[in-house]
Amino acid sequence: MRVLVLNCGSSSVKFAVIDTKTKESIASGLVENIGVNGHTKAKGPEGKIDFNFDCPTHAEAVDQVKKFLDSQKLTPTIEAIGHRVVHGGKYIKSEKVTQEVINYIRSITLFAPLHEPAHATGMECATKFFPGLPQVAVFDTAFHQTMPEKAFLYGIPYKFYEQDAIRRYGAHGTSHRFVTAEACKVLGTKPEETCLITAHLGNGSSCSAILNGQCVDTTMGFTPLEGLIMGTRSGSLDPAILFYISKKYGKEYGTIDQLDHLVNKESGLLGLSGLSNDMRTLTQAASEGNKHAQIALDVFCYRLTREIGGIAMALPRIDAIVFTGGIGENSSYVRKQALENLKILGYQIDDERNSQSGKESNHLITKDGTPKAIVVATNEELLIALDTEALVK
Ligand code: AMP
Repeated sequence: MRVLVLNCGSSSVKFAVIDTKTKESIASGLVENIGVNGHTKAKGPEGKIDFNFDCPTHAEAVDQVKKFLDSQKLTPTIEAIGHRVVHGGKYIKSEKVTQEVINYIRSITLFAPLHEPAHATGMECATKFFPGLPQVAVFDTAFHQTMPEKAFLYGIPYKFYEQDAIRRYGAHGTSHRFVTAEACKVLGTKPEETCLITAHLGNGSSCSAILNGQCVDTTMGFTPLEGLIMGTRSGSLDPAILFYISKKYGKEYGTIDQLDHLVNKESGLLGLSGLSNDMRTLTQAASEGNKHAQIALDVFCYRLTREIGGIAMALPRIDAIVFTGGIGENSSYVRKQALENLKILGYQIDDERNSQSGKESNHLITKDGTPKAIVVATNEELLIALDTEALVK
């Protein structure tokens, strides 16, 4: 089946056409700067596009995706649409899109203010521009819904959970779920008998503890801000820091919006290094002696180890640590530091295997006879397409 995968963000629409049989992406692209000065870039079997256009709302963006697919002669071949949804609230698995689902996604706007309205609008636009095609919503939080209460509750008055559903939801669930299945293939184990730590490390980063194929703890929380140090996000903080900064620097950081910007956009690798949120830039700069780049890398890798150590306590054993995401798949530096920090658990990196990201060693980057760490490429679009096929067939 050919599935159009749509990822409608606050100011962008990313898309891919996936063939679930071959598992290949036939076309992909994005429309960005919605509401400012629209720009689209895409490639498909008939060629590429790259131009600016007037794109005041998501409707023009989805229309542009449709026009591109028309030009590539793909529209008539598409049988269903799968949507990536950042926050699924109560949903524990993927759902067919209905008006009720759209209304629910809008109703939890406060959980992910930039994303949820865009997802709901994207579904309505897809109904308009691709009439008659079945649609499925795949939620980034769904995989984490197997966490027990003791792992998802915060130490704040219980009424906030009862009245406002404030709890840990996690994120990147589609990626953690995909690499869990892939890791089991690599290890030759059954998911229901496999215990893993999955580390999705990219611009956003999170780790999950997988017990017998199911998530039992994860580092992201109520929103994707908690846990690891990320590109521009702070990860976990003592909340009192915000009270302090807000009182002391009222002009710059006195409002909730300014504090939100501080912890989501000005912090993490960017904030620590004062240079960049990009791991490649930082690794290069650190190797040339940039002190702040090195500090950012050290904090990133140490926090990663500390969080892995924490969630590992939810497991009876670790069959493998699985690295994925832009950093997890590509940064031999981060993998080496993280595993060296974890030597109490017996990890011994094999430098040759690590430098090849496990490509020549069946994904393995640790020495034979020592605890396993593997590198697995994530493919969220493929999982969204497969879930879509399974639900609409
Ligand atoms: P993602 O959000 O999964 O696309 O990951 C983006 C992050 O992956 C950025 O910090 C990139 O610098 C990092 N990344 C991509 N390629 C490499 C690479 N070859 N080496 C180190 N980091 C990389």
